[in-house]
Amino acid sequence: MSGLFIDGRWGEASDGGTRTIRCPADQTEVGEVPEATAADAEAAVRAARRAFDDGPWPHTSAFERAALLRRVADRLAAEKDEVARLESLDTGKRFVESQIDVDDIEAVFRHFADLAAADAGRVVDTGMADVSSRVMHEPVGVCSLITPWNYPLLQTSWKVAPALAAGNTFVLKPAELTPHTSIWLMRALTEEGLPQGVANLVLGAGATVGPTLTGHEDVDLVSFTGGLVTGRAIMAAAAPTVKRIALELGGKNPNVVFADADLPAAIDNALTAVFLDSGQVCSAGARLVVEESVHDEVVDAIVARARQIRLGGPFDDDAETGPLISEAHRAKVAAYVADALEDGATLRCGGGPPEGEHYADGWYFEPTVLDGCTRDMRCVRDESFGPVLTVETFSGADRDAAEDAAVAIANDTVYGLAGAVWTENAGRAERVARRLRHGTIWINDYHPYVPGAEWGGFKQSGIGRELGHAGLEEYRETKHVWHNIRPAPAGWFADRTQEDRS
Ligand code: NAD
Repeated sequence: MSGLFIDGRWGEASDGGTRTIRCPADQTEVGEVPEATAADAEAAVRAARRAFDDGPWPHTSAFERAALLRRVADRLAAEKDEVARLESLDTGKRFVESQIDVDDIEAVFRHFADLAAADAGRVVDTGMADVSSRVMHEPVGVCSLITPWNYPLLQTSWKVAPALAAGNTFVLKPAELTPHTSIWLMRALTEEGLPQGVANLVLGAGATVGPTLTGHEDVDLVSFTGGLVTGRAIMAAAAPTVKRIALELGGKNPNVVFADADLPAAIDNALTAVFLDSGQVCSAGARLVVEESVHDEVVDAIVARARQIRLGGPFDDDAETGPLISEAHRAKVAAYVADALEDGATLRCGGGPPEGEHYADGWYFEPTVLDGCTRDMRCVRDESFGPVLTVETFSGADRDAAEDAAVAIANDTVYGLAGAVWTENAGRAERVARRLRHGTIWINDYHPYVPGAEWGGFKQSGIGRELGHAGLEEYRETKHVWHNIRPAPAGWFADRTQEDRS
């Protein structure tokens, strides 16, 4: 299968390199795709530049752009199971979860179709009869869109849909382990009529193609979702040419449970918060911060239920969650647990790969609970991106002291992506939510979001909002046009040219 899509043509890597994609659940081969070189990335950037500078797309009407996005949404609805199957095979994620993801992706395309034409600009009153002043929007230019492997096409849609809605051209680079739904998207965009060169796809290792995509002078904007260390490198690469950048980075997200919470709901949601997709979720509630008086009740219940979570492959109807993405990632999660134990945490359940023939070929990791954790431990400070819950405890002599203690723990992280607070006291819920320094706070809930809502990290979880989670602002330049229809000399300086001549 050809997987590089540059200037409207499918092709192989310029050096013939390929990568075999295997399902993380059982190592079956999913496909072989080209592994791009830096020269391929260069060609893709140049194609996107030409399509922006000389092509029709930036000048199409918002109506046309919206219509194209709606046709892609219709296709997603029609081909939902096929797209979900591709996603599940690449990620090992349960098929039913991938189906939900495809519904979300469809909603994202419809959301940006609606937004495309919603804000056409505005007129500003100058107070002068012959002069008009207006503010209008234009696309930014060439966008490099770089995405991670955990929600491959959903993350991609959050970037591709707004980039196209605003009239940009782009080079997409999905994570090297999960290319197939991006290939599907390129076909869909092309068959729905996107002009040549507007959408380009480069598959390959970040270290090889990343520097071109993030540093090239022809790139105007870099939108990246991934890890903190990569984000820092991208920020540095984009600096010399002052590109617009958006970074959606990691999280180490506190899930704060007060003693006055609806505990059955808090316990059940604590499991979903951290073990959904085996913890490979940027907003995973991986830090349980629980009031001391209910610690035993809450943690014992979570441990008992975590032990019962059924692991399995994408098409295993009994499975509740799947494997980790790769052998290397599983080794990273195992090392993280080892560090926790070395630092004094107590292993309550899990801690390594499950035993049994059923799991032998997949990168499974048991749901793990580490109790007795404190803020100085590596397991609390670092993101594991696996099915590992750390438990910290707080207490306070009175209402305010308890809230102060919980907030101090929950905010003590370099990250600031998301968090939750559980309490039946509405005043407390609002007080604590206001003080938590994280971009999304759920009160008595965990994980839901809607496309029109904001999504962005505080502190080192990112820069700006996820481009496109809410509006189109980051994908557009805003231009002020001042139009004087009765031009006249300004008269500021005397015109002495006539005097000079005489
Ligand atoms: P990663 O940073 O390793 O890779 C992300 C992407 O960047 C991949 O496509 C990769 O190939 C590419 N890349 C790597 N080096 C690069 C470079 N030097 N230049 C340009 N691109 C480069 O992250 P990952 O392991 O794929 O994803 C997991 C991380 O993503 C976690 O930290 C998670 O929290 C984060 N994430 C954040 C959000 C969010 O909304 N904040 C959402 C999903 C995932």
